Amino acid sequence: MVTSYIGLGTNLGDRRKNIREALDLLGSLNNVKISNESSLYETQPQDCPADTPGFLNAVVEIKTSLTAIKLLKELQEIEKKLGRKRSKIRHSSRNIDLDILFYGCKKINLPNLKVPHPKITQRRFVLSPLNEVAPRMIKRLSRDIKIFRTIRGARLWIKTKKQSAKTIGLVPTMGFLHQGHLSLIRKAKKDCDVCIASIFVNPLQFSPGEDYKQYPREPALDSILSYSGGCDAVFYPAPEEMYPQDYQTYINAEKMNDSLCAKSRPGHFKGVLTVVAKLFNIIQPDMAYFGQKDYQQAVLADKMAKDLNFPLKIKIMPIIRDPDGLAMSSRNSYLNKEQRQDARVIHQSMVMAEEIIKKGEKDIMRIKSAVRGLILSKKTVRIDYIEIVCPDTLEALRELKGRALLAIAARIGKTRLIDNVLINENN
Ligand code: AMP
Repeated sequence: MVTSYIGLGTNLGDRRKNIREALDLLGSLNNVKISNESSLYETQPQDCPADTPGFLNAVVEIKTSLTAIKLLKELQEIEKKLGRKRSKIRHSSRNIDLDILFYGCKKINLPNLKVPHPKITQRRFVLSPLNEVAPRMIKRLSRDIKIFRTIRGARLWIKTKKQSAKTIGLVPTMGFLHQGHLSLIRKAKKDCDVCIASIFVNPLQFSPGEDYKQYPREPALDSILSYSGGCDAVFYPAPEEMYPQDYQTYINAEKMNDSLCAKSRPGHFKGVLTVVAKLFNIIQPDMAYFGQKDYQQAVLADKMAKDLNFPLKIKIMPIIRDPDGLAMSSRNSYLNKEQRQDARVIHQSMVMAEEIIKKGEKDIMRIKSAVRGLILSKKTVRIDYIEIVCPDTLEALRELKGRALLAIAARIGKTRLIDNVLINENN
């Protein structure tokens, strides 16, 4: 008998029923015994056309005496029985999808069957359920990955890279990586010889009562995902490694630290800048990559690097969104289905603002009021702020002239989401 892992996905019709029926058909095969089942994972469409409905995903472990090819045929037969129609469009919606993820330790490379499944390491919606049924497979996938838990370890590795004149790109993150993070990693790897991502949920940037404890943490899966994006090493320190007991030095910015998120999260950017400065000193990157999604954080990090003469360049990369427009964020995982639907209004309101500006609206109050009106049409959404500011100084603008940043923070239930768009009244 061979142990094999099968990934299941569905985003059409009664999704729970589709999975139940697929599992019943799989379990009814003579030469297959289902030995473990993951829970069902609600996942956002990845690499799919806009308006693609959300997926339910799961992984099961089976013991089988079928050959891999015969197993594939049986899975395709189950898909057919459940009425799956194959579409020519890649990543199109489907009522059921069954993939062989692993077949024992075998490597198979046939035109119609590649095992291990080549996309496992790029997909959290496969890695999370796989981790539930077979954590040892996650260990197997992550065994060659360089993970440094200490400053000393990271520095030694960096030193060898510097000695061979390699350029270093740093991507600071708090983990629970999504495509937004991976876009930064890919860019860092493209620009630099070596990319290192840090995964550190920085206690210093959370106020009491915020979500420090609940913040999602899956470092093993993050390491696999970051590697699949081209990352060469992961720096994953414990809080006490970064802030030993007698720690007492902090970095504070003056002006740009009194607008937007700083108002509702006092002390947040002091925590951010302190950890970013420490990461710059530990990793000594040539380039560091930040997302426009956290615009204020990115410009503050850039200003700090300039003010304190860190010998590096900061790149700010575009916001990556789910197909429905919601900016990707680790915190989106807190949202239930209804909240997730309502959260789309944040992006919709920015698109509307761009449209009315294009039509000639220059009055900041009127633009903000239109944005507010649309957002408040969703009962679950509460506005933290809607601001139109100068993209360089983050000071509130009185009138729209040239470049501007429309920034929004809103709460849905206990989840605080931020988003922004750079606007130019001239085009
Ligand atoms: P975080 O893990 O949330 O601290 O984010 C780490 C880095 O990824 C920050 O520079 C973020 O701005 C960036 N980032 C987060 N979400 C996105 C996104 N949707 N698109 C692009 N970059 C992002």
